[in-house]
Amino acid sequence: MRPRSIRARDTLIAAVIAALVLGVAAMGVDFALRTRIETDLLQGTQVEGRRVSGGVRDGTLEGQIADETRGRILIQVVEPGGRVTNATPAATDRPPVSRLWPSSNVRVRDYIECRGVWPNRECYVVEAIRVSTAPDSVVVYASERLPSYLVNGLLEVGLATAVLLLAGLAAWITWRIVGRTLGPVEAIRAQLAEISATDLSRRVPEPSGQDEIAQLARTANATLDRLESAVGRQRQFASDASHELRTPITALRANLEDASMHPDDNDLRAVVESALRDTDRLESIVTDLLLLARIGTGGTAAQEPIDLAELADAEIRRRASGRKVSVALAGRVTVRGVRMQLVRLLGNLLDNADRYAESSITVEVTREDGQALLTVTDDGVGIAPADRERVFERFTRLDTARSRDAGGTGLGLAIAREIARAHGGTLRIEDHASSGARFALRLPLVTTLRRLPSARTR
Ligand code: ADP
Repeated sequence: MRPRSIRARDTLIAAVIAALVLGVAAMGVDFALRTRIETDLLQGTQVEGRRVSGGVRDGTLEGQIADETRGRILIQVVEPGGRVTNATPAATDRPPVSRLWPSSNVRVRDYIECRGVWPNRECYVVEAIRVSTAPDSVVVYASERLPSYLVNGLLEVGLATAVLLLAGLAAWITWRIVGRTLGPVEAIRAQLAEISATDLSRRVPEPSGQDEIAQLARTANATLDRLESAVGRQRQFASDASHELRTPITALRANLEDASMHPDDNDLRAVVESALRDTDRLESIVTDLLLLARIGTGGTAAQEPIDLAELADAEIRRRASGRKVSVALAGRVTVRGVRMQLVRLLGNLLDNADRYAESSITVEVTREDGQALLTVTDDGVGIAPADRERVFERFTRLDTARSRDAGGTGLGLAIAREIARAHGGTLRIEDHASSGARFALRLPLVTTLRRLPSARTR
C-alpha cells in the first residue's frame, strides 16, 4: 500500500498531516464561531424578552409590542392554551415560536429550537420567560433566527473545502520541493546505471555546494575513481600474470616437442631436467600469486603478538647464508601479526639481500617513533631512487636481476609490501650511508599493558 517513490510518500505524509492539523483547527473555528454567534443572539433575545416580560408584569406594556430590532427579534406573548395575545409586528399572525412552557420553578429558559427538514430547516435562539408563578401566567418568547449557514451545514462545508484546498496546497508544495531536491539524485542514479552498463571512466554529475547530495555525488565519483583504477590494476595484473606464466610454458612445450620429434638428437635426461625446472618456476609463480591473493583476507583473528627481534633472530639462524650477516636486535619489539606471513616477508628481503650483496648483510630491529622498525641492508649495487617504488610492483625485475638470471618470480617485494600493509605497516627502500639497498619495515608496536595491583580493603 505504501507508495514506492520517496516523492509520493513524502507528499502523502505532508497531505495527511496538513489535513489532520487543519481539520482540528477547522473544528475549533467552527465551534468558536457557533458559540460566538449563538451567545450574541442570545444576549439580544434576553434583553428584549426581559424588557417585554417586565412590561407585562408591571402592566406598563400598552398596545402592540414595539420592535426596536427591525423585525430581527420576534417577540410573542402567549397565554396557556397557546394563543398569541401580543407580538411585535413581524411576529404577529404567526403560531407561537416555541411550545416549551417554562415551569413556575424555572421561569426563564433559553435554548435553540429547530423546525422543518433540510434544506428548509430553520433554527431559532429562544428566550422564554414565564412572567409570574401564577398557574395562568403568560409566557414571553423572544427569538432570533440563526443564520442559515449555521443551520444547513454551509459553514462546515466551507471549512472542509478550505481544509482540503490547503492540504492540497501543502501536498503540491511538498511534491515540488521533494522533486527539486531529488532531481540530482535521479540524475546520479541514471548515470550510475549507465556507468555500470557501459564504461567505468564516466562520472556522475556533481551538484555545486556542500549538501548531502553533493557529498553523495563526490563520494560516488571517488568510489568510481578507485574502482576504475582497481579494475585497471587487476587487468594489468591478469595480463602480466598470463605473460609470466606463458614464458615457461612456451619453453617447456618447445623442449618437449623437440624431444618428441627428434628423440635421437636429444638427451632425454636433460630434457626432463629442463622440464622440471620450468615446472618448478611455474609452480613458484602460481604459489606466489595465490599467496598475494590471500594476504589480508584472514582479518585480525589470525594475528598474535610476536616479538619481531626474536622472529628475525630465529629466521637468520635457520638460513645458511653465503654472506656475512651482522645482527643488531633490540629486546622485546612486540607487534601483532600472522607469524607465517612475517617470516615470509623477512625471508623475501633476506633472499634478495643474499642475491645482491657483495659480501655482507646487516639486519637491525629497533623501536623508532613508537613503531617497530626492521631494516635489511646489503652492500650490493643498490636500487636507484627512480626504481625504489617500481620494484614493489608485481613482476618488476630490474636489469641487474635479469642479467644475473636470479630466477626470482618478480613477486617477492610485491608480496612483502602487501604483508606489511595487511599488518597496518609500511615497507620502503631508504637511503643509507654506503652503497647497497636498505629495506625498512615499520609496524605498529603492541603496547603491553601492565595490570595495576587491585587495592584491597579488609
Ligand atoms: P625477484 O623475484 O626478482 O627477486 P622481487 O620482487 O623480490 O623479485 O624484486 C624485484 C626486483 O627488485 C628484483 O628483480 C631486483 O631487480 C630488485 N631488487 C630487489 N632486492 C634488491 C636488492 N637487495 N638489491 C638490488 N636490487 C634488488
